[in-house]
Parts: sequence; C-alpha cells; structure tokens
Amino acid sequence: MIDLPISIDWTRPKPIRYNEDIPHLDGALAGELRMPRCRTCGSEFWPAGPVCPRDFTADLDWVTDPGTGVVNSWVQIHKPYFAGDEVPYVVIQVQLDTGPRLTTSWTGPQLPRIGEPVEVSFRQIADGIALTEFGPPPPDQS
Ligand SMILES: [Zn+2]
Repeated sequence: MIDLPISIDWTRPKPIRYNEDIPHLDGALAGELRMPRCRTCGSEFWPAGPVCPRDFTADLDWVTDPGTGVVNSWVQIHKPYFAGDEVPYVVIQVQLDTGPRLTTSWTGPQLPRIGEPVEVSFRQIADGIALTEFGPPPPDQS
C-alpha cells in the first residue's frame, strides 16, 4: 500500500462498487491502474465487463497498466450536475498506450490539448475509496 494524496472534503458522489469494477477500484487504492485483459486475444479493454468486447470470450484476467497515454478528447463542465460539484472542471478521455480509452478526471494546471501525453495518478477521497486521474507527466520524466 502506498500513501495517496487525500481529499477528505470530497462531497461529490463516490464510485459505486459494481462487481465488474472492484479490481479496478481496489487497484486505485493500491496506486495501480488495473485493467481487464482478455486471455484469448490479449487485448485490454474498458469498461470492464463479463466478456471481451472483441471476441466475446469470458476468459479474462486483470493486469496493471503502465497508466500512460494521450488526451483523445476533453470537455470542460460549467454546470454543477452533482451535489458538491465545483465548476468549472475538466473531464478527459485518455487513449491509453495499451489500447483502451478511459474517461477520467483531469489534473493538469491548464486546459488539456488533444494528443497531449498524460500519466495516471491516484487520489484517496474517503476510507477505502480512491480515484484514478490523469494529467501531464511530472517534468522530471519528460
Ligand atoms: Zn479477446
């Protein structure tokens, strides 16, 4: 277990622990981006589900993804849709280097750019609950 940044004042809705997502959510708490992977074709995919979306086999595994990719799309939210929303905030879709696209929170200091390299980070928002987020890699890595 690693020490994650903690936001104890989190007032927005928390993730629901659907059975298909539990390894992913537990991975975030451990500081790992865990993604489902098909043992038949080898592809990672998202969202998690009972079968591979490419070949519909149910022979699945979970792997730790490096958590790197690029911004595929993004939107800035200006209307508070949930209690506790502090607007504006940015939601991005990451094209992971391993294939899947993941919709997630943006941590960058400025608005994202399409194609901008990103890296995963994690933030604990309550006891036993952490979120995956993406933003520019730390300067010392690029
Ligand atoms: Zn497959």
